[in-house]
Amino acid sequence: MDSSSANLQAVAPYAAHESVSRGRRYTEQSHFYRGEYQRDRDRIIHSAAFRRLVYKTQVFVNHEGDHYRTRLTHSLEVAQIARTVAVCLGLNEQLVEAICLAHDLGHTPFGHAGQEALNDCMEPWGGFEHNLQSLRVVDELEHKYADFPGLNLTFETREGILKHCSKRNARLLGAVGERFLNRQQAGLEAQLANLADEIAYNNHDVDDGLRAGLLTIEELCAVELFREQYEAVRRNHKMIDRRALIHEIVRGMINCVVTDLVDTCREKLEKENPLTIDAVRAVPQPLIQFSTRVSGQHRELKRYLNQSLYQHESVQRMSAQASEVVTGLFERFISNPDTMPEEHASRAGLWQQESGDAGQARAVADYVAGMTDRYAFAVFEKPDK
Ligand code: MG
Repeated sequence: MDSSSANLQAVAPYAAHESVSRGRRYTEQSHFYRGEYQRDRDRIIHSAAFRRLVYKTQVFVNHEGDHYRTRLTHSLEVAQIARTVAVCLGLNEQLVEAICLAHDLGHTPFGHAGQEALNDCMEPWGGFEHNLQSLRVVDELEHKYADFPGLNLTFETREGILKHCSKRNARLLGAVGERFLNRQQAGLEAQLANLADEIAYNNHDVDDGLRAGLLTIEELCAVELFREQYEAVRRNHKMIDRRALIHEIVRGMINCVVTDLVDTCREKLEKENPLTIDAVRAVPQPLIQFSTRVSGQHRELKRYLNQSLYQHESVQRMSAQASEVVTGLFERFISNPDTMPEEHASRAGLWQQESGDAGQARAVADYVAGMTDRYAFAVFEKPDK
């Protein structure tokens, strides 16, 4: 892929280089002054799916409060963390940013409860998986270009978006699915985006959980990563108020795991010394990893959040409602696809002709998955909307 060199960041040999990119699905002219990964990022930011993330739940439903994370602010935090690490390791910052900003584009309304409900609805037709849906959004569903469907992103960005994939789905995806069949790794930027996602949600969910009063500082001290930072802040600030205390702890936790990640990756990269992105792909294990100690601490925090926050009865109450809305909408549109807006109804008709009920169901799932929380509520309550 030929591109203006003016905007190409100097990166390490093991990073993604545009000169050896596997390119776009539809050939395009290179841009006069923007690099290819920069163009990917810009296309994502200008997409309708990206704008909708502002009204999609991360854990707390948008109307519960203005300070909780949404899918949009979560994605920005993921990108911020990943860019910091990318610069430290000499990785391609623009590529990692593009992947992070796109990684949740396929999420349904209402977070994981919405995804589970839609997956159940789609069970007879291959299920629904938000990760695969993110790829679908950028490959097919965004409609912005005259010459091709989707955003026509580079292979490396698409590879990063597709974090997980079943073998069955991988077989249908062509080149971007191959690594799940060949047991290969993704490039380092994709690996980094994946861990930055975990770092972001583990830490911001602590902050949001405390804000909502569903978690307490005292109980969180049972978690080593939290307790270490709590004790450090208390040692240095005897009179600190609760709000600042929480922020200091969360900052400390992010700093601790990010520093560990940078140090561990530097060591692994030095030892393995992969000289190209393809050499990275061939290493049996991902090279972007925490140390054993921090990895254990991070898992402990994740387990804790799972039990204490995601399973909390007030989160579960919202999840039950979310499930009812998503299932209700799916059932309504699958039995009467013509009541969907024109664009979706005609797609359902076309795909019904091409691949029968499975095609029609996929069109309904695409429509429901694309909804924001508030739009889903509004349509659910007003069937004639
Ligand atoms: Mg995420």
